[in-house]
Amino acid sequence: MLISDNPKNLIEKLEIAKRQLKNAKTREEMLALSNYIYSLDESIAVVDETYTPNGKKSFLSDKDNEALDKKFYVHIDKLMRNFLENKDFHKNFFEIIFRKTDHAKRKIVEDDIITITTLSEEDYYNIFFDFMNRIGLEKCFDKYVKTKRIYTTSKSIEENTLGFTIFNPITKDSNILVDGLLDYDIFSMFTLAHEFGHVYDLNKFNGDMNSWNTHFYQSFNGEVIPKIFERLFVEFLLDNKIQVPETKILLGDMLNYNYEFVLASYIITLIPDIYLLDDSYLELSPTKIYKLVGEYFSKNNRVRKFINKCSNIDVKDTFQYSYGDVISMILKDRIKKDDYSLDSLKEFFEYRNKPFEIEMLEKLRVTPDRYVKLYKKDIELLKKPSN
Ligand SMILES: [Zn+2]
Repeated sequence: MLISDNPKNLIEKLEIAKRQLKNAKTREEMLALSNYIYSLDESIAVVDETYTPNGKKSFLSDKDNEALDKKFYVHIDKLMRNFLENKDFHKNFFEIIFRKTDHAKRKIVEDDIITITTLSEEDYYNIFFDFMNRIGLEKCFDKYVKTKRIYTTSKSIEENTLGFTIFNPITKDSNILVDGLLDYDIFSMFTLAHEFGHVYDLNKFNGDMNSWNTHFYQSFNGEVIPKIFERLFVEFLLDNKIQVPETKILLGDMLNYNYEFVLASYIITLIPDIYLLDDSYLELSPTKIYKLVGEYFSKNNRVRKFINKCSNIDVKDTFQYSYGDVISMILKDRIKKDDYSLDSLKEFFEYRNKPFEIEMLEKLRVTPDRYVKLYKKDIELLKKPSN
């Protein structure tokens, strides 16, 4: 069986983590562990409907919770200050991408409605195994299957969340949850690829608990590796002519989804600093946001519609996905040229746990123009006849 449905393993892990929390030596360690415990507690509830989650505050005393809240806000504050220092850079960066991909995006041809193939468990396993084998991680995949670390959920984990990886910062033990994994199709497999990106990424972590928390609360780098895995997976399917029509829908969805983060990022950089400094930008109504940024768009109804449907576009989440998209596009290209070897990620891992630095993009040669070039290649792939 590929998937585990036994929450007992997770409950045991929760007990271990609670003991670790009691013995934690520093506040940073406590913060990292309490974050994990909270996610794990919530995860058990989506795997096992009879489990009632304990909630964030139940694991620690009020005094400790207060201290951890303070620590948390120190991290968030640093993130925002870093963001404001580099705001002009971000603005320029995403404006170029927005302007140059906006045109191409409209050319994405809608695929005909197709019926989605449900695979047998064996085929599902084999396709994913071959992909993981291609990037040298088949042993990791097997380990997760054999040790029952992959779970599925029937009810959504969170709105817009298809998968989730929970990772113990001390033991590095992790579990994957994928929404609707029981549908053995290419779409849930795509989410699985993303989550294994998180597993690979977090396994590469080496640093103290302060840099662990920096990575969680201050960095925009958290979605780079998962998005590389998504892209490698899609291209693996296309190159091997596996489920081509469905994979193209997947690629089209991915491009649309990523494009929205690029647009949201650009919009945030157009909001005046005063709204960002005190987080009041999160409370702005769509009408107000359009008033603040509308002049930068030529009577563009799509932008207006987009703003209307976004509910609070948070800096951390948005930039994590938009930089994840851009950086992954360029690093994926390098990995493919290296015959799917992940070695070139070493350079990225040097910056992995740090707040945003322009220097990293320079070193990895990540530029809007290189992104746009590769983006157009993806659009060409979509246009190619499926058979
Ligand atoms: Zn992710």
